[in-house]
Amino acid sequence: MTTLRDILDREDPSFSFEFFPPKTEAGARSLRQTIRQIEMLAPAFVSVTYGAGGKSRDRTVEVTKWIAAETMLRPVAHLTAVGHSVAQLRHIIGQYADAGVRDVLVLRGDPPGDPNAPWTPHPDGFTHAHELVRLVKESGDFSVGVAAFPERHPRSPDWDSDIRHFVAKCRAGADYAITQMFFDVEDYLRLRDRVSAAGCDTPIIPEIMPATDVRQISRFAELSDAAFPEELAHRLDAARDDPAEGHRIGVAYATAMADRLLAEGAPGLHYITLNRSTAALEIHRNVLNSRSTQHVLAAHH
Ligand code: FAD
Repeated sequence: MTTLRDILDREDPSFSFEFFPPKTEAGARSLRQTIRQIEMLAPAFVSVTYGAGGKSRDRTVEVTKWIAAETMLRPVAHLTAVGHSVAQLRHIIGQYADAGVRDVLVLRGDPPGDPNAPWTPHPDGFTHAHELVRLVKESGDFSVGVAAFPERHPRSPDWDSDIRHFVAKCRAGADYAITQMFFDVEDYLRLRDRVSAAGCDTPIIPEIMPATDVRQISRFAELSDAAFPEELAHRLDAARDDPAEGHRIGVAYATAMADRLLAEGAPGLHYITLNRSTAALEIHRNVLNSRSTQHVLAAHH
């Protein structure tokens, strides 16, 4: 059976898209439409994020199984250790195996409610992601991805420990990594160089988050500690009442980042869709266009 690692090795670069589990039936319908549009692009995989608790977690499992059963796409299920005993984690992994899902993005998760609250593991659970990587790998023929942080994990006291623990996750069996959102390509390049200097060659796929509205910025700050470029913030602020202009600015910025990342040898691009296809698909189309233009120019020289 072809594993995701085989696909990532073959597709250079790989393109992939991320969704979150919808909260309402209307949200589910619109996500299914987005998924059908993305299906036509034949990406390497699509991923579904894992909620902070209860119902939203069940919906991740449902959406992932639906993608596996009803589409040609390869779904990657995010799975977090937070709030779960090892027995519960085994049960979820078993559900995926039964549904033919063979790809899991393993994460530790953050404390529910306040993500910055002190981290407390479940009494019968795991403390760090590498333990869950090991469990998923032992549970069957799974390809496993892990998280990487271009600006270092907010709880890491220094770069040395951050890289050491990242490399431990890879050695525990991770086949690839996907980054947290970031807005400065240099941060990605520095992370990649640090990991490589530590003797680890696990491919690190950068995540592309389109920022098209100044009001999103505070939400981004809640989700991650990614620094937001001041100049981009000013431009989006000036377009606060002009959604079309905000969209244009955000798509242009993300396209420029994506082009540069691929030129620097990033192994692929993982687009956040926010369950809507417009911005992610536009960036993707722009990236494909600039790549084909480059090929034409290269052929002429
Ligand atoms: P870990 O790898 O366990 O690292 C957490 C911290 O512990 C780091 O500072 C690390 O250096 C340190 N550490 C690791 N091992 C050790 C050790 N042995 N000793 C001491 N310190 C150690 N969250 C969700 O809830 N749902 C999602 O679907 C989701 N998807 C994500 C997708 C991506 C691509 C990314 C980048 C993040 C995602 N997150 C998601 C957020 C993620 O759960 C949090 O960022 C979490 O804080 C870190 O998870 P991790 O897997 O990197 O943890």
